[in-house]
Amino acid sequence: MAVKPPGPGVCRTCCGALAGASATLCQSCRAITAVLGPLYPVTPISLATDGSQIYAALVQYKSDHRQLAATQRLRLAGLVEVFLTYHLDCVAPHGFDVVTVVPSSRRPAGSNPLAATLKMTDLLASRVEALLAPGPGKVERNLAEADAYVADAARVGGRRVLLFDDTYTTGAHLHASVAALMASGAERVYPVVLGRRQNDSWPPSHGVLAWSAQPANRWSPRRCVHCWSQTRQL
Ligand SMILES: [Zn+2]
Ligand SMILES: [Zn+2]
Repeated sequence: MAVKPPGPGVCRTCCGALAGASATLCQSCRAITAVLGPLYPVTPISLATDGSQIYAALVQYKSDHRQLAATQRLRLAGLVEVFLTYHLDCVAPHGFDVVTVVPSSRRPAGSNPLAATLKMTDLLASRVEALLAPGPGKVERNLAEADAYVADAARVGGRRVLLFDDTYTTGAHLHASVAALMASGAERVYPVVLGRRQNDSWPPSHGVLAWSAQPANRWSPRRCVHCWSQTRQL
């Protein structure tokens, strides 16, 4: 499903639903901004609602069932590849030097399933590096401390980083990772998420979910939240 672009009712940082008509940042982004400072805008590739194909893929690509995980990694790699073929200039207008992922809390850096998936794409494979590690700070729902992750300044300094995470709920892990990369001297960080979760039991979500359900707004690789009003030609 397509993600409604920032605008009335939609957060300008994370494309999440807004509770108030006058707000431009959602509650989670406001809470995280209070600790980390201004946030970098996120590019969500797709909405990931319960029961959607992408939600299933984002669960199963981490499965211990090797065959299932391999199939879903291939599908997600294809999604990333086709999306970036059209929208790399939208996502990273000044280009990128290196690709990295938000660290998994459960797995060592060498076996990160998202990094393995990105290495299956032609566009990104040669530039995927593990730059981030868990730090001493706390990261939990709506709370991201600046030292929740750490990065190696010698490998990050002066580089433009394309940062991926699989699912986005409150964004705490993603924004803490951006903060760690910037604190280590990154020139710029461009955060991208494969699936943006939107809680359908929360009334303010209904407007954005209804928008995404309209046939005219169906997901297309030719449109992203940045260039929604134009249809991209390859
Ligand atoms: Zn937000
Ligand atoms: Zn675009």
